Amino acid sequence: MSQPPVKTRERLSEVRYEIRGELARRARELEAQGRKQIKLNIGNPGAFGFRAPEHLQRAIAGRIEQTDPYTHQQGLPAAREAIAAFHRQRGTPNAAPERVFVGNGVSELIDLSLRALLNPGDEVLLPSPDYPLWSAATILNDGRPVYYQCKPENGFVPSPEEIEALVSPRTRAIVLINPNNPTGAAYPRELLEQIVAVAQRHRLLLMCDEIYDSILYDDATFTPVAPIAGDLPCLSFGGLSKVHRACGWRVGWAVLSGDPLASGDLHHAMDLLGALRLCANVPGQFAIEAALNGEDTITPLCVPGGRLYEARRAVAESVAASRHLDLVTPAGALYAFPAVTGDAAIGFDDHRFALELLETEDVLVVPGSSFNVPYRNHFRVTLLPQPDDLREVFRRIERVLDRYAER
Ligand code: PLP
Repeated sequence: MSQPPVKTRERLSEVRYEIRGELARRARELEAQGRKQIKLNIGNPGAFGFRAPEHLQRAIAGRIEQTDPYTHQQGLPAAREAIAAFHRQRGTPNAAPERVFVGNGVSELIDLSLRALLNPGDEVLLPSPDYPLWSAATILNDGRPVYYQCKPENGFVPSPEEIEALVSPRTRAIVLINPNNPTGAAYPRELLEQIVAVAQRHRLLLMCDEIYDSILYDDATFTPVAPIAGDLPCLSFGGLSKVHRACGWRVGWAVLSGDPLASGDLHHAMDLLGALRLCANVPGQFAIEAALNGEDTITPLCVPGGRLYEARRAVAESVAASRHLDLVTPAGALYAFPAVTGDAAIGFDDHRFALELLETEDVLVVPGSSFNVPYRNHFRVTLLPQPDDLREVFRRIERVLDRYAER
């Protein structure tokens, strides 16, 4: 008699992560057949020729023999001190090394902190579009995502009134992704102040994904939430993956700020969950001090002449020249989230489009609906390729959309 098939967790059927999903699998299949793809699906700097800065590489290489043992579950003391000092400099209240958690990327800490926080049926206010790990981790930790809209017509900036209207007795936290993936929006201080006031009125935890904090273009500014939040419990997430182009090292951190009494058992819960997984990757932890105390290597990439700045310019100019596309030019982060408009948008389905673009033009983008939006006429590209490659990508996109418009 044959074995009954293994059953997996039922709630997985609600989880999607299409950045590495079916389309990416199909791209690999085509590649294996000898087709050369331009893949714009993952914000993976190393895949586009970026290297982690040399002083970070040296910080690990020079101490490789010290990296064998496990560290404390919250991370190496010196690394935590550097993170706490970085936050104190920003004005984050009560940022002490004891309240810093180092993880295997921000990804692990998003999951760990939601696991520490949520009981079945608890609600988390998430941006739409979101970085889809936030939805996935909420669902897999038995919570319920409730989305506040960041609409293209408002520059992808949320409305504090809408956020407040969505608060229910089950709401536990407000998640902010700023600068935002996938939209590139960077939120103004006044807006963040209003959102903090909502959290204060309803006693909600603020969870601020600030992994793109110093990837900013033109006159965009970044305002960290924790200093505004003051005594309110706030978790601020940052890491080495993007600003320091070291995503393979898997280094992220979360800083718990605000009045320690107000954060209740959260510290203990995160410490316990951290202890169960022993510690974060140790070699990567040795680069943290060097990253936070060393030279700024990201700003030169984000100013005119810099690779990311010129990539963003290539996308903005390609969209401006297109008959079918519209774009809220990203103020920060590593992505653009264009909209298909006009005749090409009639009956448009973002998944069908992404598949057709892959099959006929060898370009891989992520359909907008993968980011939990209620509309289907957007797609995401990363700004990491060479500017000329991005111009070529948009020429190919235009060819497909020309066909759509003529149908
Ligand atoms: N948060 C956001 C908004 C991201 O875009 C990403 C990765 O793309 C992450 C978190 C996870 O980053 P990591 O786990 O590499 O620190």
